[in-house]
Amino acid sequence: MVDIRSVHKSFGPLQVLKGIDLAVRTGEVTVILGPSGSGKSTLLRTVNHLEKVDRGTISVDGELIGYRRSGDRLRELPEREVLRQRTRIGFVFQNFHLFPHLTVLENITEAPVSVLGRPRRAAAEAARRLLERVGLADKAGAYPGQLSGGQRQRVAIARALALEPRVLLFDEPTSALDPELVGEVLDVIRDLARQGTTMIVVTHEIGFAREVADTVVFMDDGRIVEQGPPGDVLDRPQHERTRAFLSKVL
Ligand code: ATP
Ligand code: MG
Repeated sequence: MVDIRSVHKSFGPLQVLKGIDLAVRTGEVTVILGPSGSGKSTLLRTVNHLEKVDRGTISVDGELIGYRRSGDRLRELPEREVLRQRTRIGFVFQNFHLFPHLTVLENITEAPVSVLGRPRRAAAEAARRLLERVGLADKAGAYPGQLSGGQRQRVAIARALALEPRVLLFDEPTSALDPELVGEVLDVIRDLARQGTTMIVVTHEIGFAREVADTVVFMDDGRIVEQGPPGDVLDRPQHERTRAFLSKVL
């Protein structure tokens, strides 16, 4: 379970998150929608402490992220503790962020071996199983530059899964892809949802949200305007801002 409570974040004078409360239950998929600049990426980045919150707390499976309690105060965790927490919070970016000089298999095994200290052979076996899961069993020896965008993104998903994350965060995982490649990536995410992977997905793919999300969240101007089951938020939005946004993207 991811528990986001009263999260505030500013960049200088710009208030980007103005009090976000969101609970993502284990095994559920939350899709975040909202206009450009509404704070979606910033919110995702606070979940793994890539951005520090100014106020509020985030916990994953009961563990406070980035801080520890000391009496009634919060103290920042040392960097290596934050890195340890981050390994269990998978992040899939719009632009894949693969290591170009490593093969597909090496991209997936790098962190399990170097961060978790897994034996290389066991990590490679696990990586091959993950490649099968994302439909790329035949690409283990390829380099990212030899793959299509959709294939690269599926490698990035396999790489995140290799760390056995408690939650997977996706920031517009298909928006850098040619339209004909979007489906293969969404299919993988849909499969993960079926298998009960806890996920938070920022996307503009409304059809995907309707089908896969347990909860749809609409953000605007640093706030959650409304959240609920897709049938409510997408088909019977209560707020004018949600309606206006949906009428533009649908
Ligand atoms: P998009 O749909 O375009 O990806 P978003 O909802 O993800 O938008 P964010 O990237 O979270 O929006 O940005 C929210 C606001 O915060 C924007 O006005 C952005 O310019 C600003 N912002 C984000 N990161 C920083 C930063 N590191 N420094 C200063 N301002 C930032
Ligand atoms: Mg963004």
